[in-house]
Amino acid sequence: MTDHSLTTWQRELRAQFPIITANPGVAYLDSAATAQKPQPVLDAVMTYLTGENANAARGTYPWANRTTTRVEQARDRLRAFLGDPEPDRSGVHFVSGATEGLRAVARDWLAPQLRDGDEIVVAHADHQANILPWQEVAALARARGDRVTLIPMPYDAAHDYDAGRLADLLTPRTRMIAATHVHHVYGNDMHVSRLRAAAGPGVPICLDAAQSIGHLPVSVAGLDADFLVFSGHKAMALPGTGAIWARNRRGPLFRPGGWPGTPNTAGIVSLTAALDWLDAAGVDRIAAWTRDLGARLTGALAGLNGYEVLGCRTSLAADSTVQRRQGIVTFRHRTIGSHDLGFILAADGFLVRADGHCQGEQGEKTTSVRVSLHVHNTVGEIDRLVDRLAALNDA
Ligand code: PMP
Repeated sequence: MTDHSLTTWQRELRAQFPIITANPGVAYLDSAATAQKPQPVLDAVMTYLTGENANAARGTYPWANRTTTRVEQARDRLRAFLGDPEPDRSGVHFVSGATEGLRAVARDWLAPQLRDGDEIVVAHADHQANILPWQEVAALARARGDRVTLIPMPYDAAHDYDAGRLADLLTPRTRMIAATHVHHVYGNDMHVSRLRAAAGPGVPICLDAAQSIGHLPVSVAGLDADFLVFSGHKAMALPGTGAIWARNRRGPLFRPGGWPGTPNTAGIVSLTAALDWLDAAGVDRIAAWTRDLGARLTGALAGLNGYEVLGCRTSLAADSTVQRRQGIVTFRHRTIGSHDLGFILAADGFLVRADGHCQGEQGEKTTSVRVSLHVHNTVGEIDRLVDRLAALNDA
């Protein structure tokens, strides 16, 4: 695609976000926290709620039957979105988001299998949603007298997982590798496809895809993970949506514990619409667009000595061929506190995230400012942000 047609493509997509077009003075730079919703997603929800809202899997009348069908179709839609090569063999379970999904995999699937001497690999610099559940099931096992050990995932100097060192850490008692596809602070693609080679054929892998779905193409065919969990609200669906995709090959069939109750039907409808929208927009183009904007920001920050950018250093060099930040750039000012910087930027309409980003215990200890991008963001927004940051450079 030429630059010109890419710009036209982006402008047409940006125009589909009502909250963005209604607020021309605002640059929404917090899509990693939650994504804004394009009009077709909102329309799909409204059409459903005003046309055939009913409960699922309980009905004897058309609205209820159609709702049941919509939930089933949403499962197939997700499998197709993920390029599932064996859709008959995978399960799709709707949850409220990645936090609930990861906890369900840990509690409902892994915990009953854990025995004395077992080990779980956990990535301590990742999001707490992918750390706490594994700590919790290990603690539960210990409480009943089974020693279950958490093995820290090794990282390399570029904040990637160190697959070579990981291979050395694995033993016949490793029962799970809990990993993340795109890091929510550093923005790097963690190259999770290398984990399977390191793990060998037998160890289950659970992947937190909260920051990759909708941001870059995700194919379960290439990943050979057993579980992939994400938040629909970060992928342009409604809040309170998310899913566990489970392949069920290494160990028993995954079944969420407890009585499921009424599903979030409107949320599930919104997820189908969001996946349709993302596919039509082209996730590969979205990835290219947000990567370029991120590179523009990191490039400009590299020239401002008042700021420190977190994450992989090599990707910051002007001539770097390593540009792996997937639309997430996190930094701090050398003297202005990150919360203060967040307020200063918000006053000028730059909506960023400024805190510790729920990062795990061995990650960055202090707060920072995270700019996270999506397809509605523009070069103009980045340049205005850089101007504002430059004006604060010597503060
Ligand atoms: N994992 C990652 C990598 C995340 O960025 C987030 C949200 N910040 C979560 C998990 C948790 O997602 P949710 O709050 O939607 O459950």
